[in-house]
Amino acid sequence: MAQAYNNFLSQLERAMSVKDFGTELYGLLRSPMKQIEHQLNVTMDDGSSRTFEAYRIQHNNWRGPYKGGIRFHPQVDLDEVKTLAALMSFKTAVAGIPMGGGKGGVTVDPKALSQGERERLDRAWAQAFKADIGPTVDVPAPDVNTGSFDMDIIAAEYGHPAVVTGKSVEHGGSLGRDTATAMGGWYVLQQLKDRLFLDPEMFTVVIQGFGNAGATFADICARHGVKVVGTSDSSGAIYSTDGIDIAALHAHKQATKSVKDFPGARNISNAELLELECGVLVPAALESQITLENAARVNAKVILELANGPTTVEADDILFGKGIQVIPDILANSGGVTVSYFEWDQNMKGEQWSAEQVDVMLKDHMEKAAEEVWKRAHENTVDMRRGAFILALERLQQAKP
Ligand code: NAD
Repeated sequence: MAQAYNNFLSQLERAMSVKDFGTELYGLLRSPMKQIEHQLNVTMDDGSSRTFEAYRIQHNNWRGPYKGGIRFHPQVDLDEVKTLAALMSFKTAVAGIPMGGGKGGVTVDPKALSQGERERLDRAWAQAFKADIGPTVDVPAPDVNTGSFDMDIIAAEYGHPAVVTGKSVEHGGSLGRDTATAMGGWYVLQQLKDRLFLDPEMFTVVIQGFGNAGATFADICARHGVKVVGTSDSSGAIYSTDGIDIAALHAHKQATKSVKDFPGARNISNAELLELECGVLVPAALESQITLENAARVNAKVILELANGPTTVEADDILFGKGIQVIPDILANSGGVTVSYFEWDQNMKGEQWSAEQVDVMLKDHMEKAAEEVWKRAHENTVDMRRGAFILALERLQQAKP
């Protein structure tokens, strides 16, 4: 079942039913421009040879080079990757950066590879896709199970740093990229908080997924004196009305590999976590977490989607009906791709920007994007997801050749 892609199509259709963009635009955006598949042959440490399936989905490039990550996973889900590629076209448009949308995957269990095998896989990927990618064509980045190690190798094999983003700083990566997604979400929240009636006194936060995006968001909350009352990881969830000491939780997680059993907090289930009373609920783990089944029990004022696709279309309607404002993924987590674009820009110009410069520019981009989305939602009396899609559609239509 192409569930994730159908969810994307519903979101697109719902936005297009609010504002008329014509049937041609829908036809052009409803499927990717190009889907490329290659077989990667890799020599294993024992001298044997193995073949891995790899593909890249290039959804849209009217606004600039295709942009999006490459994931390594044994059960790469083509439907999900196709969905994420499409959402990238909308996300880059909302963020106002001159990039399009793409995504890729390799069917491989990365944990079963040695470092040398992994490096040879990255090189094979770069060689196979050399003709399909490039600084002005398609600029991949890390995604699930890939990181700066892989990007550094692909850039070296291709021969230009701007061919990928998410590289290590020593190899042309940007300062501030690792915190950009959470920081961007924070700036969006700050920009909209008055209009969302987020009372500073009552502004408590619950974060699902104490990983890269979620734990960094927790750090930012702690720095600003905002109370995080609940969080979780794949092992379980914790809750404390007094607020969780985030620095101590990092140490606890490092020592025990889990957030569970944190002193001073109560263990709860992940399902309970999503229903806690709070100011802001931050899904930062997986897709399809807030659904028809649990949306009516969500007890937050605002949902900030740091994860991609955590809320289904049916849940959107229930939340909107309850007056819960959802700051959609294509706005809330677009800080990551925004700083990826900054990395590309630095590489193209041969520059290295300071962390402060990156932060100032990120803040400016996110505030503008939040304002524009809010305006579209307000003008059309719709939720912010439809507002964000309308903004992206306007920008895509403008760029259509
Ligand atoms: P991550 O792997 O670092 O963190 C994910 C966290 O979710 C981990 O703590 C994991 O234990 C937890 N988790 C997994 N299953 C869970 C479950 N069933 N219940 C509760 N928690 C669970 O990943 P990440 O990079 O932080 O990405 C998280 C989400 O944010 C993804 O949807 C990703 O696509 C999205 N996102 C991330 C970035 C980025 O820059 N990292 C950018 C844009 C979007």
